[in-house]
Order: sequence, then structure tokens, then C-alpha cells
Amino acid sequence: MTDINFDCPHCQQNLEAPLEMAGDSLPCPTCGTLIQVPVKALKAERPRTAAPPPEEPEMSKSPKSRTAAALCCLFLGPLGIHRFYVGKIGSGVAQCLTIGGLGIWSLIDLIRVLTGSFSDKEGRPLQAW
Ligand SMILES: [Zn+2]
Repeated sequence: MTDINFDCPHCQQNLEAPLEMAGDSLPCPTCGTLIQVPVKALKAERPRTAAPPPEEPEMSKSPKSRTAAALCCLFLGPLGIHRFYVGKIGSGVAQCLTIGGLGIWSLIDLIRVLTGSFSDKEGRPLQAW
């Protein structure tokens, strides 16, 4: 329990008051003047040095290999394997069940993989071969 240390403005007597007395008035035991206990200044907080923003992982493109996706799509496209590969499990299953949308869906995927507009489950386009 830290007490507030302050001087009586009237007689300069050094006084102490319990912390919860901050802001209250009390008579000085020495001279009897009613004095206000100063609100103890909070310890100056060290200005927080702005933490550098966390290194953002490369969000612009997928870490998945375009080559792998293209090969999966080319040979196993109707099974939706390339979608499983990039984490799109849901649509991969759907693609598998529809046999690649009767080949059309997987063909479109193949074209998108080859043109670099096919994206992984985070929506990042596969760009690296
Ligand atoms: Zn006093």
C-alpha cells in the first residue's frame, strides 16, 4: 500500500495520506488548514514504441505449385484432385461427384490454372510454377 506523499501548502509540513484519500480534503495535523490530498500522478507510462507490423506473409499469391495443380487437373481433373490440392475440399468433392462437371468444370479449372487465375482456398491465385 503506497501512501501519497505531499507537502502542506500552508506550513510545508510533509504529510502522508493513504492512497484512497486522493482528492479528499483533510486538515493538516500541524497547522490545521484543510488541504486537499493530491491525486498521485500515475507513473508515467513508457510510451509504447509502436510495434512494427507483423511481417505479412505473402498473401497475394498461393504457395501451391501451379505445375502440380495443372498436372492434377489435366489427369485427375474430373476427380477434383486439383481442388483438394489447393484446399478446396468442398468443391473438390462436388467436382468429383459430378465427374468434373462432366468434364467442363475441370476443363475450365485447367484453363484457369494455366492462365494463373486459379486460386486456392484463401482466394490466392496460384502463380508459382
Ligand atoms: Zn500545514
